[in-house]
Amino acid sequence: GATIGILGGGQLGRMLSVAAARLGLRTHIFEPGAAPPAADVAHQLTTASYDDADALTAFGKSVDVITYEFENIPTSALDLLETLAPIRPGRQALATSQDRLTEKDFLQSLGLQTAPYADITDMGSLTSALDKIGTPAILKTRRMGYDGKGQARINGRDAAADALAAMGGAPAILEGFVPFSHEVSVIGARGADGAVACYDPGENVHADGILRTTTVPAKLNSGQRTDAVLIAAKILNALDYVGVMGVELFVTPQALIVNEIAPRVHNSGHWTQNGCTICQFEQHIRAVAGWPLGDGSRHADVVMENLIGSDMDRVPQLAGTDAAIHLYGKTDVKPGRKMGHVNRIIKAG
Ligand code: ATP
Ligand code: MG
Ligand code: MG
Repeated sequence: GATIGILGGGQLGRMLSVAAARLGLRTHIFEPGAAPPAADVAHQLTTASYDDADALTAFGKSVDVITYEFENIPTSALDLLETLAPIRPGRQALATSQDRLTEKDFLQSLGLQTAPYADITDMGSLTSALDKIGTPAILKTRRMGYDGKGQARINGRDAAADALAAMGGAPAILEGFVPFSHEVSVIGARGADGAVACYDPGENVHADGILRTTTVPAKLNSGQRTDAVLIAAKILNALDYVGVMGVELFVTPQALIVNEIAPRVHNSGHWTQNGCTICQFEQHIRAVAGWPLGDGSRHADVVMENLIGSDMDRVPQLAGTDAAIHLYGKTDVKPGRKMGHVNRIIKAG
């Protein structure tokens, strides 16, 4: 069978490797960090830096297609790798989602709604952006932010200077605060043949900037549910995308506002492992391997709960319940670290 190269050996790379193995495919993980969660399930592991051209070349030559579990891969590494094997999802999806400013411009160009936003380079641009957008607002680094890191809330003008200092000189964007009632996400997939399939939207609850639970079905009326799926399909088609994508949406009475997109399998799609015949990991592997997409219809109501840091202490108790337990094999427990998740079937469909 074919070999799928995966950039990144975290839990997403791990679960992609398990799905690939079930389809009779091999995976080769490239990961700079030592002892990554995917190591014990991948067929092959390369531990090397993204600056190591020899290691990247050997990796690229050993695989049939390259995919990734995170979006912040250095451009120089991608330039080299794309000469050796196709990268799916493609460069346009990566370039668009690596930078919050590029991402918002792209979403606006499709006629989709986002929070009001402005490019921030210094105190002058922040002051004029606050004149236009008002408060409350959120200042975010343009690149590399995740789990709410690299963000500072600006509740009033007097908080502006501290928020800018918190960016540490990194390029940033200011976003107006969206008064949403709740957050949902669509996990969408597009095959190499252009077919699109979206999972039923899930409703996301965050705590301290980290995803806590995803519940399906989300609280949406039928118009909103259709809108959510159409938004995801529009983004997938515009990027000529191949693979699974996460699209985060804010729900307001007037409209669905696109928060951000992730060009990969997504934490808010973990419920599909126990709520669908074909989960997001298998769907992604199918797409990047050039297989037809599978049936992603939902057969149950599910609550996915992340196990973060000391939540691991609850595993013995959870093992005595009906919850499906997914652990990532991480040995050191740290506050805020995603250690695993559980899926609870609320009602069989
Ligand atoms: P992720 O881990 O999902 O990649 P992230 O660090 O990229 O997160 P965002 O998704 O941009 O950060 O923001 C994290 C959370 O902060 C959102 O899910 C939402 O709850 C809140 N938030 C972010 N931007 C806004 C906004 N403009 N208005 C209101 N709330 C916001
Ligand atoms: Mg993000
Ligand atoms: Mg987010």
